[in-house]
Amino acid sequence: MDATTLTTPAVLILLGPPGAGKGTQARMLEDTFGLVQLSTGDLLRDAVAARTEAGKAAKAVMEAGDLVSDEIVIDILRDRMVQPDCAKGVILDGFPRTTVQAEALDGLLASNDQKINAAISLEVEDAEMVVRISGRYTCAGCGEGYHDKYKRPAKDGTCDKCGHTEFMRRADDNAETVASRLTAYHAQTAPLISYYEGQGVLKRTDAMGRIEGIARDLEVIVRDAMI
Ligand code: AMP
Repeated sequence: MDATTLTTPAVLILLGPPGAGKGTQARMLEDTFGLVQLSTGDLLRDAVAARTEAGKAAKAVMEAGDLVSDEIVIDILRDRMVQPDCAKGVILDGFPRTTVQAEALDGLLASNDQKINAAISLEVEDAEMVVRISGRYTCAGCGEGYHDKYKRPAKDGTCDKCGHTEFMRRADDNAETVASRLTAYHAQTAPLISYYEGQGVLKRTDAMGRIEGIARDLEVIVRDAMI
């Protein structure tokens, strides 16, 4: 990454396989700590919807459950991280996913005298991830996340948060793509656990339980990491 001026006071990374709950937990941490969630998956889906050059290049790769090129993802993340709201501090959700991305992030942060406060590994078994991914959906109005098994709206078919009655499922949340996404995770992303352990910033948390319990554990880790 090129040197770019950053003013982020805290940098947290959520590591974990697809379906570990990174997005759900990042949004809760956003509310609790006033940080900004940066999801490269969301940024890429926006680029696909807007039919930008990056979006066109990423579309088929995402549908297949493979990783988008480091170059595209790093560019997208860097552009987002220099926006003023990121000055509050960021929670990276789904980035980095390769060693090249992790090194690029280190370079960007170092050139701005920033450092990673914590890289938190959400640990979940593969079988549970498949259940989580295949059951999840979001409100088409406000993006609130739901799950067929774990988190249904209080009134069936109506969003608890905004009252909208339409919901969406991600195109890549299907059985075939999930298998590729898990393979990509184990081959390319899981090695980052040792990478951050080596930097002394790794925290591990059991993410097999209920959303609220995991959120409480994460809050303790994050409070500690932000001191
Ligand atoms: P996510 O929303 O994090 O599950 O990401 C959805 C898809 O976007 C992934 O399966 C990848 O195809 C792509 N993607 C998201 N983040 C990255 C990243 N950091 N590196 C490469 N591909 C990514």
